[in-house]
Amino acid sequence: MKGLKIYPCQSGLSVVEISMVKSLCVYCSSSDRLEQKYFAAAAAVGMEMARRQWTLVYGGGKTGLMGAVARGVKSNGGRVVGVIPEFMKIRELEFTEADELISVLTMRERKMLMETRADAFLALPGGWGTLEELLEILTLAHLEVLRKPVVIFNQDGYYDDLIRFCQKIVEEKFMHATIHGKYLVARSVEEIFPLIENWCHQPGDAKWFQTK
Ligand code: AMP
Repeated sequence: MKGLKIYPCQSGLSVVEISMVKSLCVYCSSSDRLEQKYFAAAAAVGMEMARRQWTLVYGGGKTGLMGAVARGVKSNGGRVVGVIPEFMKIRELEFTEADELISVLTMRERKMLMETRADAFLALPGGWGTLEELLEILTLAHLEVLRKPVVIFNQDGYYDDLIRFCQKIVEEKFMHATIHGKYLVARSVEEIFPLIENWCHQPGDAKWFQTK
């Protein structure tokens, strides 16, 4: 959901686009083999979302951090919306306690539905699946197709290399420095929520395709 906030500024009043979050899409690992600290943080994210009455929109899985965040939401009385491809349901990977479990045919359909159902996006630590989802949403934000907050939870520096690589992309002029305004980085679970709530849209470079 979008809203407008009016701030006093030198020339009078300034109006900026802000987010009013009711649902958060969480991208995260489906692996069950992680260190306990990752499961604990994912569960804490889910519990805090429920406390704020933010609906979880996610891939609908029961394994890994996906299961941990969903169980965290449910343990605090929150609402879970899972979007899961049929072929994963057949393998019984779905989180059956979800309030809404939407079946789709393809991974692409799943990403599109998650994108439309969420007011903001959060990437917890994850593998290729998480990276793919995160990079797609960042690409949409870069193209100004999407105007919603995107937060990377850099737990214990897990995403340091990705953030460094984003700097390299800009240094080598593959993209404009305004890409850094398209994502926010949280270092703790507590930091995630104010980053999303205080987000305001940062325009990209209209001439993003010009690298010189
Ligand atoms: P990964 O980070 O590679 O574990 O992938 C996790 C992300 O990709 C999740 O946010 C899901 O939407 C999707 N995904 C990939 N593999 C799975 C799986 N085995 N079960 C559920 N979701 C998956």
